[in-house]
Amino acid sequence: MSPVNSILGIRDLVIDRVERGREIHVWARPAKRLACVHCQQESVRIKATHQRTLKHTRQGNQLMVLHLRVPKYHCTDCNRYFRHRFAGIRPRRRATEAYRLEVFEAHDGGVSQHQLTRTHQIGSATVERWYQSFVKQRVLELSGRACPQVLGIDEHFFSRKKGYATTLVDLKHHKVFDVVLGRSEASLHSYLKRLPGKQNVRVIVMDLSETYRQIARKYFPNAMIVADRFHVVRLVNQHFLKLWQQHDPEGRKNRGLLSLMRRHHWRLTAVQKERLHQYLAQSPVLQALYFAKQQLNGFLVMKSLKRKRAKQLLPKFLKLLEQFESSPARALAQTLRSWLAPIVRMWRFTKSNGITEGFHTKMEMLSRRAYGFRNFENYRMRVLAQCGWNGVINRV
Ligand SMILES: [Zn+2]
Repeated sequence: MSPVNSILGIRDLVIDRVERGREIHVWARPAKRLACVHCQQESVRIKATHQRTLKHTRQGNQLMVLHLRVPKYHCTDCNRYFRHRFAGIRPRRRATEAYRLEVFEAHDGGVSQHQLTRTHQIGSATVERWYQSFVKQRVLELSGRACPQVLGIDEHFFSRKKGYATTLVDLKHHKVFDVVLGRSEASLHSYLKRLPGKQNVRVIVMDLSETYRQIARKYFPNAMIVADRFHVVRLVNQHFLKLWQQHDPEGRKNRGLLSLMRRHHWRLTAVQKERLHQYLAQSPVLQALYFAKQQLNGFLVMKSLKRKRAKQLLPKFLKLLEQFESSPARALAQTLRSWLAPIVRMWRFTKSNGITEGFHTKMEMLSRRAYGFRNFENYRMRVLAQCGWNGVINRV
């Protein structure tokens, strides 16, 4: 490869002429004849030559335009015809693959279609078409891969017409694995049935939803269910606020108190604690409930504990649950007990669906930016393009 060729990035070309004006024009031709593509015979003759004009990568702020001489060959052996094929240039395209990739990466990185029409001299529809074609190709590649080891599963709202969708997240690598329309077993069945590598999944993180628990048991035989910390703590707080409402409707309406009540005890300042304790002192029942709730939350936020330490804590946790069972918060205690194993497993893990919730925010923004999606497949494509991989396509 000569230095000029290596700058162009296209193999086996001879440069005839270069003109630098507003654009850089490069006239080039193939360095040697190809062997016959049908019979691999070397003896081919050039029947005719035509010229192709292609946009190639930008150098600095100048666009490079390639004028290629393309021979049409005739194989004297098998009597068939074929055109010269260049690596990195697809038939009938008016830009090289390198150029298309450049536009894709710029657009993926946030350069608007409008801006690209000015710098790259292509229409905005072309930018969209190229972008979609790269995304489609990439999503196709991604769709065959096996399940991640640590899977987060959660639902999110898609559209009023089509309802909810389920998000599957690779929690180990912080990437969206897939989104599927529906949140019931019936609507997910056909997807889950043909999902490759289900036995790879070791851990599934989920909120306290019975549907997802059944799905996990049925389709992921080797997976351990771990409760999602965020959802468990939220559940506890919701129950507590409801009890408070029953107990003292007037106090519940006080927004200042509400903010104090729902926060973790250890996050309050001394002044705030003082104020809260003054209020609680008026009602012993509420006070007892509040401290029990704080104790419970203390258990729920623990993570990455050693096995031995978790074993020590378990009896204390069970005792607390017993206390709850004989208190007004009996319903809560029953829920927690039915999810005991997944909740206790939280102590040993650090991963939670916080990552998934973050992706949900991002997906909502995606949807907003497109003024909502009607077609779920288009939505899925966009989500995987922006949350499913790092946006870099490796050059061949
Ligand atoms: Zn031939």
